[in-house]
Amino acid sequence: MNNRMSTFLESDLFQESWTGELEEMENPYDMQGLKITYPVYYEVDLYKVEDDLELDLYLEYEVETNCSRCLIPVTEKVEDTSHFTIREGVELEEEEETDIDDIYYVEELKRFQLEDLLFSQIISSIPQKSLCKEECKGLCPQCGQDLNHGTCDCEQEESGNQFEILKELFTEK
Ligand SMILES: [Zn+2]
Ligand SMILES: [Zn+2]
Repeated sequence: MNNRMSTFLESDLFQESWTGELEEMENPYDMQGLKITYPVYYEVDLYKVEDDLELDLYLEYEVETNCSRCLIPVTEKVEDTSHFTIREGVELEEEEETDIDDIYYVEELKRFQLEDLLFSQIISSIPQKSLCKEECKGLCPQCGQDLNHGTCDCEQEESGNQFEILKELFTEK
């Protein structure tokens, strides 16, 4: 993959696209606790624009997670489209507060590592919330009964699902 990237960067071509699959072994990040089903399929479209590199990225993978309401394991298929501007230099401090999330700074364009960006995009594209089914009734916040499989005698509060709130806190990084 890196050969392909550096070949493109050093060539006179303005545009290049390819597809590939990422294996877990290539992962430069600590992804402990994230159960992603490898390989992750990706498509990249690259354009050289002035001194930058414009990158369109499509990712497709499955992640094993838990239903936000009833906590049973679910496998979620993720299809994620994103765009980045790859730019040489360092992020300036005053820019941090503005919306420049799609600018990815590298020390040197020729050393740009596609995997690094792929993995960081995988991490940010993992859904914060998954449901086993749209109409999942969740757990009783008082006794924990899975309300998809029966009722309990607790008084049900109308507002909010405490388990859902707890689960969200738990899954925050
Ligand atoms: Zn559920
Ligand atoms: Zn109950």
